Amino acid sequence: MFTPNGFASAHAIPGHLAGHAHAFAFRDDRVLVLAPGEDQYVIPTRAALAAAGVQGAPYFLGELEAVGCVALDLPADAAEPEGMRYVGLRTLFFKVPDALLALAARAFQIVDFERTHRFCGRCGTPTRARESERAKECPSCGLVAYPRVSPAMMALVVRDKEILLARAHRFATGMFSALAGFVEAGETIEDCIRREVREEVGVEVGKITYFESQAWPFPHSLMIAFVAEYAGGEIRCEDAEIAEARWFSVYDMPKLPPSVSIARRLIEATAARLRAGC
Ligand SMILES: [Zn+2]
Repeated sequence: MFTPNGFASAHAIPGHLAGHAHAFAFRDDRVLVLAPGEDQYVIPTRAALAAAGVQGAPYFLGELEAVGCVALDLPADAAEPEGMRYVGLRTLFFKVPDALLALAARAFQIVDFERTHRFCGRCGTPTRARESERAKECPSCGLVAYPRVSPAMMALVVRDKEILLARAHRFATGMFSALAGFVEAGETIEDCIRREVREEVGVEVGKITYFESQAWPFPHSLMIAFVAEYAGGEIRCEDAEIAEARWFSVYDMPKLPPSVSIARRLIEATAARLRAGC
């Protein structure tokens, strides 16, 4: 996920919100979409939702090409209107334009933030929205909370023309990916990568090179991807998380994660570079 071209983020809902605004309405973690045909999904407008009787607290996301975008938080027992369906965000991969998928992911994170910050974490007083920025503040003790973003590191370990890939117990059968883990309080990015690689597969890494990053709304990660050069050690898997880890030749790779993921791009771009001898 990314910030689409032509999108301007904002938090204060405008006085007039047009009926053709994009509306991302969530019941639990599923978004309400128009379903005109088998496996076809369309993000509804605010007017379409209103016509279907869908109501919920709106949160403004900003404007995409001057069209407003709102997130709606629906009650857990909200009905599914005729011709519409609640679907998981992953269902929308490749089914709606990338820009709208990215905004749906952003909308979910805002709704999740609002749901989980209704009360002050320090004194328990109900919070209120801050006018100057997207944040919740406590009118009693002044504590301010922002939408949570959890940085996670992804590392693809390379050695000559080989890459180290692992299969987690939770992965689909046969799929391998790069190593990943969340940053702990007090760690640098470099600390985290060295620790994660050491803990998960028992290998040491040397030089680390930045690749790119991706917002990943499951539920609020920022995945930051790197290529890490092998520096020593034999593969020894951490049983709790990793089912299997192996060196793969860049000419003979296993089943990889879907192309929407940064993991796939990291692996394919790196393998192509190693095959080209650079
Ligand atoms: Zn408080």
